[in-house]
Amino acid sequence: MSTKHVYFFGGKTADGNGKQKELLGGKGANLAEMCTIGIPVPPGFTITTEVCAAYYDNGKKLPEDAIPQIDEAMKKVEATFGKKFGDTTDPLLVSVRSGAALSMPGMMNTILNLGLTDASVEGLAKKTGNPRFAYDSYRRLIDMFGSTAMGVEHEHFEHEIHEMKKEKGVKLDTDLTADDLKELVRRYKAVYKKDVGEDFPQDPKKQLMLAINAVFNSWNGKKAIEYRRIERITGLKGTAVNVQAMVFGNMGNSSGTGVAFTRDPNTGEDVFYGDYLINAQGEDVVAGIRTPEPIAKLGEEMPKVYEQLVGIRATLEKHYKEMQDIEFTVQEGVLYMLQTRSGKRTGTAAVRIAVEMVKEGLIDESTAVKRVNPDSLNHLLQPQLDPKSKVEVVAQGIAASPGAASGMVLLTAEAVVAHSEKNPNDPILLVRKETSPEDVAGMHLAKGILTSTGGKASHAAVVARGWGKPCVVGCEAVKIDEKNQQITIAGKTVKAGEFVTINGTTGDVMIGKVPTVPPSMSGDFATLMQWADKSRKLKVRTNADTPADAAKAREFGAEGIGLCRTEHMFFGKDRIAAVREMILATSEEGRKKALAKIEPFQKADFVGIFEAMDGLPVTIRLLDPPLHEFLPQKDNVRGAEEVAAQIGTTIQKIFERVDELHEFNPMMGFRGCRLPIVFPEIGDMQVRAIIEAAIEVKKKGKSVLPEIMIPLIGTVEELVLLKKRAIATAEECMAKAGTKVEYQIGTMIELPRACIAADKIAEEAEFFSFGTNDLTQMTFGFSRDDIKGFMPTYLKEKILPIDPFQTIDFSGVGELIKIGIQKGRDSRKAKHGSHLKVGICGEHGGDPESVVFCHNVGMDYVSCSPFRVPIARLAAAQASLGETARDK
Ligand code: ADP
Ligand code: MG
Ligand code: MG
Repeated sequence: MSTKHVYFFGGKTADGNGKQKELLGGKGANLAEMCTIGIPVPPGFTITTEVCAAYYDNGKKLPEDAIPQIDEAMKKVEATFGKKFGDTTDPLLVSVRSGAALSMPGMMNTILNLGLTDASVEGLAKKTGNPRFAYDSYRRLIDMFGSTAMGVEHEHFEHEIHEMKKEKGVKLDTDLTADDLKELVRRYKAVYKKDVGEDFPQDPKKQLMLAINAVFNSWNGKKAIEYRRIERITGLKGTAVNVQAMVFGNMGNSSGTGVAFTRDPNTGEDVFYGDYLINAQGEDVVAGIRTPEPIAKLGEEMPKVYEQLVGIRATLEKHYKEMQDIEFTVQEGVLYMLQTRSGKRTGTAAVRIAVEMVKEGLIDESTAVKRVNPDSLNHLLQPQLDPKSKVEVVAQGIAASPGAASGMVLLTAEAVVAHSEKNPNDPILLVRKETSPEDVAGMHLAKGILTSTGGKASHAAVVARGWGKPCVVGCEAVKIDEKNQQITIAGKTVKAGEFVTINGTTGDVMIGKVPTVPPSMSGDFATLMQWADKSRKLKVRTNADTPADAAKAREFGAEGIGLCRTEHMFFGKDRIAAVREMILATSEEGRKKALAKIEPFQKADFVGIFEAMDGLPVTIRLLDPPLHEFLPQKDNVRGAEEVAAQIGTTIQKIFERVDELHEFNPMMGFRGCRLPIVFPEIGDMQVRAIIEAAIEVKKKGKSVLPEIMIPLIGTVEELVLLKKRAIATAEECMAKAGTKVEYQIGTMIELPRACIAADKIAEEAEFFSFGTNDLTQMTFGFSRDDIKGFMPTYLKEKILPIDPFQTIDFSGVGELIKIGIQKGRDSRKAKHGSHLKVGICGEHGGDPESVVFCHNVGMDYVSCSPFRVPIARLAAAQASLGETARDK
């Protein structure tokens, strides 16, 4: 028997089922599943994703044995639906739809009304007694087939319909008469012939085969490849093709089409949420051509259909135990379901839905924890507009994706990409009439998106929600004037590059920058986090340099500080002068004098942080960056003059020192532990400040757990030297105060040598903290600040699967980490009989996939920036729950 390439669905049966997403694609699997649970679905069949793979292996040809299977499945559809494909009196028409295992909205093209020809359009007109409908369907087919399968510009067809409406003096497509549409078909066919070089095919089977090929071809179209890249989708076989009997929403006023979510995808509220259009087909609802009606209104217009739809909503949720995104069509009062899939949602909605479904008894706590994509929590951690700030709302659109965004207005996605390449830190607001799949790269880079047309299911809304990006759509008061590079909002002009603020939670639009405030953790968010913590094994700490950050992180559940960078404290307005004085000093005496001025500040900082972290460990890293970072650059004469005046020296002296300190490769220069080895008094001062602060806080009755971390250790000898000195200093402080505090001395592991020599280092270190930013730089020999020139090519050419500064490079850097942990732990145990505490404090500590890695290699904790603490907590819980059930 040959391989089964084609899976039929229809009536109440199906060859496949909902679990076969890999094989049938999400759309095909769910169409099959809906049939088997008794939901009305037009019959059809799915050609598998394996056929797509074979198509490409075959030099873009279908495997031979697929064709008879297609013919056979078509016969079953004909029998089920009671019409014949290619019949000229009462033709069966079909849609040809793409659908991969993961949903890729708008990425691949659907062709509707396939099978219509000059002959059968007449039959359809007669049979339905509705020539207007017949010709409308035909002109749509020529357009969709032409642009999707044959590469005709959709604009060329649009131009014709536009002209036609102008000639007839009408505004809406639906105002065109049967005769108008008949004429339009003639013109569309002419466009087709001109662009394709042959007539529109009059053989339905030929149409079908071309359309199937077109779907397979779209799998490797530019848009699809771009989407997969951004969403990091890899390892799929291809797309499936679904061929399905057409039902018509454009047969008049008792017909229509709609899209809906079983719960609000913005807020997660348990309400039916969506849009529909009367007398419309397919993508009309989402294309922003006509403004759709809210779903509740269907209850007034078609009460029976609405009731049935509400019933299906409940059935689907009960069956899938998940919020669904559905498509339906009503043909002359009869309801058909055309698609269901788990709905994309904001992080806010994801959390609320997961928590409420537990309360409704649909799912259990660990399923809820597994279901929320950690990165999507970003949404709940989005800044909100400062409630205290004066806000002048100039216009309002549809709230499509929550959070507030202030950004420089740019009018095209290309402009966003170009601008970001040069100024990656500029916040940008992309403002467009509507967005399309071509825009995704620019949308990804923008802080927020504002469109003047489109509804809750428009491309911009769906994509923004998926990414957790603030978005307002359908703001009709926004007029875009690309030619003059400006927009007007409710009559007020804003030039490209000027600021506009949107509030994606309310739909408000404001001109200018509006201050924002950080979010807080409460309600469902807190509940989900509690559930996550129950199964989590990794501890989550934070990187924080100030008491305020430490307190915020604690509020988000941080269990200590994994990295407190002391150099950030050196830059304070009142301290930098003393720091510079220290650097410029030519003798130890001079340095000590300057350091004495810094010490009280440093101590006060630590007091604040220890107090905020009462009862939790605090890892403080000794000074790390090269000293020249604290001096004015040589082209900054003004700055140098100021410094000279401040500390009583000359600018010549300053620049001489700048010259002396100049390094060709600062990343590998005179920094980290090399500083206190050469200038021991710097380390002494820092250790004194730490221990004295700890004593002071302890005396106030609080519990302090300082961990002194020495950066950039490569050999154990470095550590031996510095540790001896630190212990002596600490002992001296404690003797002087007459109080003891517990403290630990450990090291950051950020050099490949340290990983390899970890056994030796662990004999001296009480803890390891992997500094994976430097470790990645040093392992690859890439400077993180200089990868712009080649990293994009590396990613495009798949030399690297992902930027290693974003997610740990498992097979290189990751292996070094494993070696370091294993050697370190074994040797610590052998020599001291104790457990070596291991954590990570690089940027990677807040990256969900890296967190899973940290769990798998047995680290004790991860440390990340305060706002990523909840993300890391959730990722850590998912790592210990095993596989994750995230909706991508
Ligand atoms: P996408 O993957 O972009 O959602 P779909 O394959 O779902 O594309 O099709 C696009 C539109 O065409 C949808 O609105 C869908 O409802 C409509 N459609 C698809 N197949 C049929 C059909 N057999 N009858 C009527 N409408 C259809
Ligand atoms: Mg589509
Ligand atoms: Mg769809």
